Amino acid sequence: MTTGMEMPEQPRSRRQTRAAILTHLLQSGGSFRPPLAKAVRLSEASLSRILFDLKAEGLIEEVRRPAPYVGGPTGLVSLDGSVALAAVELTGQWLSVGVGTLSGELHYTERVALPAKPTAESVGRVFREALTLLRDWTRRRRIALAQIGVSIPGLGRLSISTNPIIPCDIARIGAMLAQMFAGVPVEFTNSVVAHATFHRCRRENYPFSGAHLFVFVGQGVAGTWVDDPTEADALQPVELGHMVFGTDGPRCRCGHHGCVEAYTSLPALAELLGVSEAELLQLGSDWVTAVPLSARARQELRRRLFRLGLAIGNTLNVKPCRGVAISGWPSLLAEDDRKALVDGVDASLLGGPEHAQVSLAFVPPSNGNDPRAALAFAAFCLACRGGMPAASTEAA
Ligand SMILES: [Zn+2]
Repeated sequence: MTTGMEMPEQPRSRRQTRAAILTHLLQSGGSFRPPLAKAVRLSEASLSRILFDLKAEGLIEEVRRPAPYVGGPTGLVSLDGSVALAAVELTGQWLSVGVGTLSGELHYTERVALPAKPTAESVGRVFREALTLLRDWTRRRRIALAQIGVSIPGLGRLSISTNPIIPCDIARIGAMLAQMFAGVPVEFTNSVVAHATFHRCRRENYPFSGAHLFVFVGQGVAGTWVDDPTEADALQPVELGHMVFGTDGPRCRCGHHGCVEAYTSLPALAELLGVSEAELLQLGSDWVTAVPLSARARQELRRRLFRLGLAIGNTLNVKPCRGVAISGWPSLLAEDDRKALVDGVDASLLGGPEHAQVSLAFVPPSNGNDPRAALAFAAFCLACRGGMPAASTEAA
């Protein structure tokens, strides 16, 4: 079993070495040279040569600071604040676009509302309107974008053309981006992957540094395997939301009945609480105290959380790993309620929880912060290709 913490001494390509440096800076927010060299397994001389290039290309900056080491001061290396990234994030209510930096600062955001009953056609028009605003803003300021990150809820191998959470034609949107932002690398991802990136790169005290499973409970329910960022498959979506718990259950967007997503997504939660999804989103984290819960509803809520726990436990049975981070509405609940989810994990883990030694951590929900997750994803994409042109990634 790989843990993501081991350090194989394999020869790395130029891209991988640069990616190791840039993703480390992205996740740490900045580093002095000695610990950076150690973290990316380079001699200080080799690191120096690469930092020289990265600096010349405008990807990093270095400030001389007194360092807490013998022999200091040394340079504090961080990502260059002038690199501009675009974020495009689709949510249940609107499409968010923005321009920001590698460290997550947003300089511009705009939201275009979705129609009440969106179709692929009308969502396409919303994309055109929002992307035109984005293009005009960057043009007026003569900003050259280094990367565009696009986050779509439910995007996956099955949902691209058939059943995304919000209907949209990815191929057409891709063509629109290629035409309006010629030459700028564009990456699409599932919103769960974007949120996993956001938590990993932007949250202080994120509980895991090695390989782990990130579960996001939002518009849909899904997971991402998070691994070494310099590997090609650093972020792998897992469709754990479509584990079926009884074919007589509520209908799911995938066409089946009784999927864990049909019980635990935000729309399902809204229905259980007797409020509209829009009201629930507006309340944000406050719904826990603002919406009264009857004893019966609480019992049902716990039953659903238990099922979500079973789905997570079963996912770990298929691919064991030591850490699970859970983000979304369950993180807001009191420990008594959350215990139902933990019990579900325990009840399905092969060999029992003690044997599996899985540590569960609840991290705050990040829905409602759009387009920050897409921005974090754009930064991650740029860092993963070592800041090199998209076309040369494979050749490197
Ligand atoms: Zn389903």
